Amino acid sequence: MERYYKEIYEASQSDKEKVAWCSSVGPAEILIAAGFKVYYPENHGALIGAKKLATKYIIKANSIGYSPDICSYLTSDIGAYLMNETPLKDAYNVPSIPRPDVLVYNTNQCREVQDWFKFYGNEFKIPVVGIFSPWKIKDLKKEHVEFVSNQFKNLVKELEKITQRKFDYDYFKEVINLSRECSLLWKRFLETAQNRPSPITFFDGTIHMAPAVCLRGLKEAVDYYKLLNSEVEERIKRKEGAIDNEKIRFYWEGMPIWGRLRFLSEVFEKNNSNVVASTYCNSWVFEDLSPEEPFESMAECYLKIFINRSEEVKERILVEEIQKYKCDAIIFHDAKTCPHNTNSRFGMPERLREKYGIKTLIIYGDLNDLRCFSDEQTKTLIESFPERT
Ligand code: SF4
Repeated sequence: MERYYKEIYEASQSDKEKVAWCSSVGPAEILIAAGFKVYYPENHGALIGAKKLATKYIIKANSIGYSPDICSYLTSDIGAYLMNETPLKDAYNVPSIPRPDVLVYNTNQCREVQDWFKFYGNEFKIPVVGIFSPWKIKDLKKEHVEFVSNQFKNLVKELEKITQRKFDYDYFKEVINLSRECSLLWKRFLETAQNRPSPITFFDGTIHMAPAVCLRGLKEAVDYYKLLNSEVEERIKRKEGAIDNEKIRFYWEGMPIWGRLRFLSEVFEKNNSNVVASTYCNSWVFEDLSPEEPFESMAECYLKIFINRSEEVKERILVEEIQKYKCDAIIFHDAKTCPHNTNSRFGMPERLREKYGIKTLIIYGDLNDLRCFSDEQTKTLIESFPERT
């Protein structure tokens, strides 16, 4: 990750290379194939959250009109920019975020990315390209895929204007292949949690997912997951659990609470419980990518991410996942500033309990804004869960 951030920064300082900023489930493969170094503001937002720096930046963004109720990745990231600060300095000795040449977002996750990227478009006076995805899909149809793949093809034309180079379709297929390989290896890592005891936790996943988010489409990500999987598979052979005494297995639904990863992982471990799997980490598995139909398969993969499915489809996926990972209960994280990745507000926990007998627990918090999270209340909820159910 250090090399990745250094390389993008260096590219932003040179005339020879171009930098694109991309939303986290945006068309990264096209940007890489067009020759851009790709930077993800959401990863920067998560880094700010994990470093517990978000509050001062959120307040700064609020002061120029961004509400405290909207995405705290957005407000953390814009606030940090306004204050000319970045955690990349301390973490990787990278002086600043890289200056972009183009900004590309995809509304498959939320509309917030549109305003977020527009802010930077105005700041840097550079093109902003949006991919508009049909929302909350129940049955994925050919028309949906065509609608998005045509936008991907138009994006290629926009990028050619910026790079002044012809798009390399052969390299694009290679990138798609690498991205698919990365996805399959990442999926294999996540599925090791089917073992009992699980050799990994959700909290491990939130750290190890960085290459799947930021380096997919590059060989480095593939190498990383090969190494990681060989280590985890050794643990499975030794029957070594991620925690010592795994009695309760939870499934995590929703955003991580970046500034409380350690706190939460320790609370669960002390209570002999492990959060083994999540919808969040699964969101970067794009196993249906195909070099035979690169645009169409990309469109399909990016349309059918969990966050972009209907309530019925989400319900079905959650039931399947809980069975697959043999979880005793599901935790819903009600993230104050991310309604899109919060699924406890329209009766989903109640439906899972009543229709399928699945035990549920709701934790209130936020991805970055720790003012929305109470250590004590959450600890009590987790500790008392076995007695209450
Ligand atoms: S999905 Fe949620 S956390 Fe992610 S960018 Fe959108 S609002 Fe922010």
